[in-house]
Parts: sequence; C-alpha cells; structure tokens
Amino acid sequence: MAAALGAAEQGVEVLLVEREDRNGGVLNQCIHNGFGLHYFREELTGPEYAERFMKLIESRNIRTFTGAHVWKLAPFENTAFIVSESGIYDVYFDALVVTTGARERPFGALMIPGDRPAGIFTAGLAQRFVNIENHLPGKRALILGSGDIGLIMARRLTLEGMEVVGVVERLPYPGGLERNVQQCLVDFDIPLYLSHTVTGVEGKGRLERVYISEVDDEFKPVKGTEKVFEVDTLILSVGLIPQTEILKNFVEIDPKTFGFITSNTGRTSLDSVFAAGNDVIIYDLVDYVSTEGYTAGKHAALHALRKVTPSRRIPIIPGENIGVLFPRFYEEQEDLRIYVRVRKPLENVRVVVEPGIYSRKFDRVAPNEMITFTIPSEKIPPSLNRILVEVEKDEG
Ligand SMILES: Cc1cc2nc3c(=O)[nH]c(=O)nc-3n(C[C@H](O)[C@H](O)[C@H](O)COP(=O)(O)OP(=O)(O)OC[C@H]3O[C@@H](n4cnc5c(N)ncnc54)[C@H](O)[C@@H]3O)c2cc1C
Repeated sequence: MAAALGAAEQGVEVLLVEREDRNGGVLNQCIHNGFGLHYFREELTGPEYAERFMKLIESRNIRTFTGAHVWKLAPFENTAFIVSESGIYDVYFDALVVTTGARERPFGALMIPGDRPAGIFTAGLAQRFVNIENHLPGKRALILGSGDIGLIMARRLTLEGMEVVGVVERLPYPGGLERNVQQCLVDFDIPLYLSHTVTGVEGKGRLERVYISEVDDEFKPVKGTEKVFEVDTLILSVGLIPQTEILKNFVEIDPKTFGFITSNTGRTSLDSVFAAGNDVIIYDLVDYVSTEGYTAGKHAALHALRKVTPSRRIPIIPGENIGVLFPRFYEEQEDLRIYVRVRKPLENVRVVVEPGIYSRKFDRVAPNEMITFTIPSEKIPPSLNRILVEVEKDEG
C-alpha cells in the first residue's frame, strides 16, 4: 500500500494486486499495539495501521485487486499473470514493485528427531488461527524461538487461556526486541531458556511431550542437560524467509538471506523492477517497511514516466560485524537510509560508513535491535567506487 501510494503521488496509473481478500498483509493478524510510532507518531495495532493506509489508498483512487494471485511474472515482457475468481488476466506494466513479504521457516527445516504428530504450528499460523479464525491451537504450549513473533505469541496464547510453559532460544540472548521480552515474557512470568534448543518431539496422533537441552557454542546439545515438557502444542518462531521465488530467475537475490538485492531507490538488478519490505530484508518495524515501500513506489513511477534514467550504482559492502544490511547499492537521487543488524551483541562500538561519510557511537548494539540512520545525498561524493559499512570497537 505504501508503494502504491508512493507511485500514485507521481501521477501514474497504479494497480495494487493482493491475493488475500483484504489489503494489509501480516498486519491484519497482528492485533497487538506497537505499530506506527515512527510513521504516524502514534501507537497503533496492526489492523489500525493497515486501515490508515487503506484510507490513503482510497483517497488517491488507487485501483486495488484483492483475491488475485500473481502466479507468474515475465519482467522482460513487462507482464504479470494474475489468477482470480473472476478469471485469468495478463497485466502490462511500465514498472513493477514486488512486495511479497516473507514466509515462516517450517518444522521440516529444523531436522528435529522424533514423531510427527499434530500440534506443531508456526507462530504466524497460530496467530492467524487465534486472531482471525477464533481457534485455540491447544491447551499447553512450548515456544521455540524468541524472535518478536514468538514473544508476541507467548503473551497472546496466555491471554487466551493457554498455559505457555516457556520460550526456548538457542542463542545466548533473545532474538526479539527488548520491549517485547519485557512486555510478553517478564510481565507474564513466562520462563526464557536461552542457549537451549528442542531435541525431540513425541506423541501418537497429537503432540504429548517435547525435549529440550542446553547447547554449546556450536549449537550442539550438551549431554545431561535435558528437560522434558508435557505439552500438546509446539509453536515455532524460527525465522522468516523473504518470498522472492516469483522473480528468482530474473533478478539478483542474496544467496544467504534469499532477499532481493536492491539499491536505495528499491531498484533490483532489472531497471524496471523494484522491491521493498520483508522480501528484501526482514524488518523489525512496519514503519521502515512503509518508508522503503513508498520510496520504491515513487522511483518505479519515475521510471515508468521516464523522468529518471538509472544512475551509476555505487555498491554498499557489509564490513566487520554486519549481519544484515540494506540497501546494497546507492543511486544518487535519494538520501541514503541505511538499515543494519549486527552479528552479535557488542558494547562500546562505533557504526562507521567509509570513506568518512558517517560515524556514531553506541554503548550497546544487538542483532535484535535494527540500527537505522540517514546520510544526506550531498555528503556522498558521486565518484566513490564503493561504500563500506562496519561496526568497530570505539577506542575513544
Ligand atoms: C507476529 C508479528 C508481530 C509484529 N509486530 C510488530 C510490531 O509490534 N511493530 C511493528 O512495527 N512491526 C511488527 N511486525 C513487523 C511488520 O508487521 C512487518 O514487517 C510488515 O508488516 C511486513 O510487510 P510486508 O508488506 O513486507 O509483508 P506482508 O505483510 O507479509 O505482505 C505481503 C503481502 O503480499 C501478498 N502476496 C505475496 N505473494 C503474492 C502473490 N504472488 N500474489 C498476490 N499477493 C501476494 C501477501 O498475501 C501479503 O498480503 C510484526 C510482524 C509479525 C509477523
């Protein structure tokens, strides 16, 4: 919706295609608050945040096509193939913005030994059952993964009457935002088992018990540390994977994260194709998704109108201690907003952008808190061959 808005405000004709019956994506099932503090300077729930954008979309007369699945894209022919109840359509475009979001890492990817009973859900699916379809997944749950979705679901299931016996995290620190650890676990006395993982599941038909163990530095279970929980539900919150399959043979995709590689204007390796949101990197706040969506929409429209030709792209390189970095190229039409996740928690560090473009000290940084900052375009010499982003020890 933000991309559609960014494009429409440049005066182009926009079609917003969504396979669900309603626009808004994952926001529609996130009924907790905590959305919009940056973008609207208000604390909203997910559906309220989506509603704000729906109103903006309506006020701009943007055409939306819901219940419509884009099953194939032919970017060299500038064509999208759409399947819907009303028929199959070929839609021609001058520019395309892909905002397909992310999917959850499934149980099968974890190679956990044991039975394969009912009662094992990804957190997003459990959230959809509870918040949209009004079903409780079980009575007693253990949650694997302390990312934001896992933490939010620990609180949600507790509030709905389930007993949550713990959240298990293989890293020595939580994966989600600090505020969510406090508000979702500490406030509800839900134990957090750091440096632990699930080592086995048992159950005939329905899940009956889950085994966990402490892990060493290489995430291998430590003998003699096993605990067992009698639970009928295991909730998995073990990561989101950008959904980029629809363009995987056409544009550059990061082989490690599977996200689209884009410039700061959202442009992918194909001039007329832009991408934004969780299909590029996994953001922690929807506000950032909206900001980058709006920018990608705006530049897609400028491309469609032939108002700008793609400028030279300066590569942005992830240096020391950088786990996640957006964008990966700089195009000069925009200021450079950088989003970074560090690899591990660090103290007394400096985020540095070379050569000598930006530097800021942090007392503490951690992978669960995204760092973001903006460098005005006039501070970036167009002659640069590359921009390097690093997090280094602050010697001062
Ligand atoms: C449980 C949870 C809690 C969160 N809590 C917070 C919070 O407290 N505060 C905050 O700011 N952020 C929070 N977030 C993060 C934020 O909600 C997301 O980062 C953001 O909404 C992602 O937006 P997106 O548009 O990239 O992806 P999505 O919301 O996933 O949207 C992608 C859309 O694309 C559609 N689509 C995909 N493929 C196709 C296709 N082929 N054809 C047609 N349509 C297609 C999907 O149906 C979907 O509607 C939370 C996220 C989750 C999951």
